[in-house]
Amino acid sequence: MDSNYKKDFEPGFSPLNVCEEAARCLLCHDAPCSKACPAGTNPDKFIRSVRFRNFKGAAETIRENNALGSICARVCPTEKYCQKGCSRSGIDKPIDIGRIQRYVTDFEEANKMKILEAGKKNGKSVALVGSGPAALQAAVSFNKLGYEVHVYEKEKVLGGMLRLIPEYRLPNRVVDVEIKRIEDLGVKFHTGVEVGKKVSVEDLKKKHDAVVLAPGYSYGKMLPAFENNKYVISAVDFLREVKAKGGAVKVPANVLVVGGGDVAMDVVTTLKLLGVEHVTDVVYEQFKEFKASKKELEGAQKMGVTIVDGYVPSKVEGNVVTFAHREIKAEIKVEADLVVLAVGQYPEVKGLGIELVKGEVNEGKPYYTKDPKVFVCGDIAHSAYDKTVVGGVRTGKEVALYVHAALGGK
Ligand SMILES: Cc1cc2nc3c(=O)[nH]c(=O)nc-3n(C[C@H](O)[C@H](O)[C@H](O)COP(=O)(O)OP(=O)(O)OC[C@H]3O[C@@H](n4cnc5c(N)ncnc54)[C@H](O)[C@@H]3O)c2cc1C
Ligand code: SF4
Repeated sequence: MDSNYKKDFEPGFSPLNVCEEAARCLLCHDAPCSKACPAGTNPDKFIRSVRFRNFKGAAETIRENNALGSICARVCPTEKYCQKGCSRSGIDKPIDIGRIQRYVTDFEEANKMKILEAGKKNGKSVALVGSGPAALQAAVSFNKLGYEVHVYEKEKVLGGMLRLIPEYRLPNRVVDVEIKRIEDLGVKFHTGVEVGKKVSVEDLKKKHDAVVLAPGYSYGKMLPAFENNKYVISAVDFLREVKAKGGAVKVPANVLVVGGGDVAMDVVTTLKLLGVEHVTDVVYEQFKEFKASKKELEGAQKMGVTIVDGYVPSKVEGNVVTFAHREIKAEIKVEADLVVLAVGQYPEVKGLGIELVKGEVNEGKPYYTKDPKVFVCGDIAHSAYDKTVVGGVRTGKEVALYVHAALGGK
């Protein structure tokens, strides 16, 4: 099978392109793009710097508010945030803010710029549990406030779900560079440590002034009929393995995917890029109510994925799955050599001493738990932000300020 897994489908701007794109910006007063960024990255300010060919200044503006600037440049759903209200849309099309940000952060890396700086030590320390985007941003924000920061991650690699987003959208190299920058600030990372098993939250409370839990939605859901079936794997486990092995995995020629969200689209696209001939995706939602973005759906269809909408699995016998239509009396049977279930993720907080209500911790005050020394951030925190990378960045910044205030800081 021919693999295109590592191919970059949306190459970055050239120096000429980035200047042309920045020149289209209207340099709005009270810019809608900056108001809409959950991380507060200020596109109007860094685009202005790009217009004056001040790439260093542009990179500084991005880093001021977002420790994961080069990751967000690649994976942020900009059409929902900064680009949504872009004033330029009234003339032709919104400014491609994501790609300008990507150019600037690539420039930063190529020129080995060191923008993030450690704060003056305040004698206190915090433990962060998990190393996804929320914890990574929190690590930088705490470090800036003078805390000694220790990150405990159960996996051998750092980055949480960033290590699942397919390589063609977010190369591992980009994540490695961002994490190295954070390590260089003096943040201590401890991998292979599952808090609640190897180390308890009580142990961390004794060692640190505060503990922040950011375990995310790290586990792939299984539907009961698919459990303990050798042909079945969750989307999370599938994507994690493919990315960890850089696409060097064996996949059969005929794969069934169940689910229709953005994660399912990542799975079907990955399968196609790996060279899988027949990819069938059966989805509960009908096309008009699809969860995945239109762009992702159309992209998958263009690659040759067969998408069948409006069906639910009714029987599973080995590698044969029967689906019944939700509304009409119709049934289909699909036989496949591998079945990937992309029906959502769930958080696992056993042993962490917190309770989730509707998948979140919500004790009235954002980021607080019942224990005054224990806080939460990221996907499991009840917040106004979406469960996205940039949403995680925002909660990571905010939790650091809340903890700092709770510990008597200003
Ligand atoms: C396939 C996929 C594609 C996605 N694509 C995008 C995208 O394009 N754009 C976007 O904005 N968002 C995307 N997301 C969503 C985004 O990745 C998440 O919203 C974000 O990663 C959540 O960050 P987090 O820090 O809360 O947790 P996570 O990233 O989930 O990280 C949690 C970390 O905690 C660790 N952990 C859990 N329990 C313990 C414990 N007891 N002890 C120690 N460590 C523990 C886990 O191993 C994990 O590393 C995607 C998600 C998936 C699954
Ligand atoms: S809203 Fe659009 S046009 Fe206005 S400053 Fe932002 S990127 Fe430029």
